[in-house]
Amino acid sequence: MKSETCFGKVSGKPLTQYYDEAEAQGAADYCKEHYDNDLIPYQCAKCDLWHLSPKSRQTPSQKCSRCIGGYGVEKESYRTKLEARKRANIIYDEQGVILRVYKCKYGNGWHLTKS
Ligand SMILES: [Zn+2]
Ligand SMILES: [Zn+2]
Repeated sequence: MKSETCFGKVSGKPLTQYYDEAEAQGAADYCKEHYDNDLIPYQCAKCDLWHLSPKSRQTPSQKCSRCIGGYGVEKESYRTKLEARKRANIIYDEQGVILRVYKCKYGNGWHLTKS
């Protein structure tokens, strides 16, 4: 099923939407098996449904134990400024949200923020 609200910023094509993680993961497994395409499900902040993103676009991150984000959740921490910026670009592509990269004041790598 194609999304009516979400489009790939690069391709301009509507994203395929899934109603839960299991359905998205099933589609990802199918792609892996048939096309050798590594995809990762993610929950979209815009439509609240699930889309797939190429694994190559995923950036490794961990939770920062010291910093709490705007929604009261622990902030994701990236090892390098480059990885944080890569993630910010992906979020912009997928959600149209512009994020700024800044250094964790407790020395736990780099974070993203909206303002
Ligand atoms: Zn969406
Ligand atoms: Zn931090």
